Amino acid sequence: MQERNPLGSAEYINRLNKIKVLSLIRESDEISRAEIAKQTGLSAPTVTRVVDSLLNIEKLVVQTGIGESSGGRPPVIVKFNGKDRYVIGIDWGRTHIFGVLSDLNGHTLTNLDIETEASDEFDSDLKKVVNLIDQLILTSGINKQEIHGIGIAAAGFINQKTSIIEYSPNFNWENINIKKPLADRYNVPIIIDNVSRVMAQGELLYGIGESCKDFIFINVGYGIGAGIIMKGVPFYGFDGYAGEIGHNRIIGSSATGRKCTCSKMDCLECYSSGRGICETAKAQLPFYPESSLNNYQTLSTKKIAEAAQQGDAFALQLFTQAADYLGLAIASMANVFNPEAIILGGKVTKAGKFFTNRIHQVFNKEILQQSNRKIKIMETQLNDAAAVKGAVSLILSEILNFRE
Ligand SMILES: [Zn+2]
Repeated sequence: MQERNPLGSAEYINRLNKIKVLSLIRESDEISRAEIAKQTGLSAPTVTRVVDSLLNIEKLVVQTGIGESSGGRPPVIVKFNGKDRYVIGIDWGRTHIFGVLSDLNGHTLTNLDIETEASDEFDSDLKKVVNLIDQLILTSGINKQEIHGIGIAAAGFINQKTSIIEYSPNFNWENINIKKPLADRYNVPIIIDNVSRVMAQGELLYGIGESCKDFIFINVGYGIGAGIIMKGVPFYGFDGYAGEIGHNRIIGSSATGRKCTCSKMDCLECYSSGRGICETAKAQLPFYPESSLNNYQTLSTKKIAEAAQQGDAFALQLFTQAADYLGLAIASMANVFNPEAIILGGKVTKAGKFFTNRIHQVFNKEILQQSNRKIKIMETQLNDAAAVKGAVSLILSEILNFRE
């Protein structure tokens, strides 16, 4: 966003330095300031300033002792201090809500997963989330006062200045304020962000991020979205809506096109999301009397995936078409951003190798070959926990004052 640490400003450089130093400290068990300077390439005074801030202001690292001297001043050893600092992460989905209470090291103390009816009623969903948070605190045995914040991953267009969900096609919500009722009740920072970007941040902090800082996380679930990480920092775009790959039109307009929840026609989501695959199945099933899917009264993406796993030709065809559109869309995105890796996540990517392998194939065919380099496509390391882990990382960013 334009107000958020403009590229090249001293504040932005400081922020990047802090991320770099903190990442190294988190990845090392214990490390000296001299070693931090050596491994990051930052000057000794910069490392001293950043480490002092992490020690005394954010209190995210602790001094663990004095190392062996090799002649000069003995080195001061520091380590990350995520213990005893608790945060709550909530993955607020259309059909389920998942919550964890963990420390900043990412160690989960307790977690809860509740099924919800796919209703459009915000107030009843909010009550469920409040109950879930209360239960997490109760079962963990942690005092309410020890919670440093609540991070929430939700689908939709979320205004980063106001935290208002301006519009969520998945929930059919408009101008929803999740932050205020929760902040009033719990009196801690409440950070809300788009679920796909949150999943990417989960991977950055607790998954692939240890070895890769430039990647795009593609979330294929009820809808489709992307979280873009560049140089270890989430990319928001001007309004905070970057990554809406699911609402790009994927096929030419036709009289038989399908209307998307965003009110446009023939978006990628209409054909390749869990919802889209299910809609295609319903529309085409009458033409495939031999398909095992005819045995069901109602269809779901899970049932279609199971049929495909058992070799049902029609179910496999549905996933093949979905993968073809996805491979094409992801390749376009990779051509624009030139990431080091693409991470595939979200429930639908768990359908099976027939789905993810097909995405790989189409991607490899469509990606610009001139770069003469293979962009790695991999599956999420965090699986269903990517969004909650990411929601936890939102609070870590808040403590670090990375967000404004
Ligand atoms: Zn759309």
